[in-house]
Amino acid sequence: MISQSVENFLKNIYHLQDGDNWVTTTVLADKLGQRPASVTNMLQKLASSEMELIQYVPYKGVRLHPNGEMIALEVIRHHRLVELYLSKALGVPWDRVHEEAEKLEHVLSDDVEDRMAAALDDVSTDPHGSPIPTKDGQIARVDSMPLSEIDAGQTVRILEVNDDDSDLLRYLGDLKLYPGTDIEIVNREPFGDSLTIRHDGRELSLGEEATPHVFVSTTTRKKR
Ligand SMILES: [Zn+2]
Repeated sequence: MISQSVENFLKNIYHLQDGDNWVTTTVLADKLGQRPASVTNMLQKLASSEMELIQYVPYKGVRLHPNGEMIALEVIRHHRLVELYLSKALGVPWDRVHEEAEKLEHVLSDDVEDRMAAALDDVSTDPHGSPIPTKDGQIARVDSMPLSEIDAGQTVRILEVNDDDSDLLRYLGDLKLYPGTDIEIVNREPFGDSLTIRHDGRELSLGEEATPHVFVSTTTRKKR
């Protein structure tokens, strides 16, 4: 039986390792809001031959063992499916679903998971545009870059936004800037990452607190 705390470790390592990179204990401790010493303690347990959920090399860091990755992807599937279900089936606003999913992701039974998925037409992405892993642990790659990196003059589509800042989500929701929306970059400030965008015939400005957390499709990068 895997505890909630183990599930949270594996999930956060998955997000931080972004492919196949090693995650340092310091970065992980920071993300989990725990002391590095207790994080190291847990990592030693997770890496032990009895659990074999991660690879852990002192001074180098940690990355998931295939066993750990499977669990991480299952938790992420639960999380994103719950977010989608709450949003689509129950009408919970998109800035409030993450907090609920943080709890429900650990207690969802296979049966309820299947029923939630069956009740929804499309379970490819969650309300924030993040791909929902399949039951057998496959996950789509999102080829995107932060809005803060985009040059003026381009039209891009919003693909994904960070799910854990409810103030930002409320703000973006008020502006109707949801995944799937096309926006034109009208102007960018010479310094910082603030942008003026055009959407639905209106121009509006997006501050540098927002633009790094909105991920968009495009082919060309801003010249630095
Ligand atoms: Zn979330």
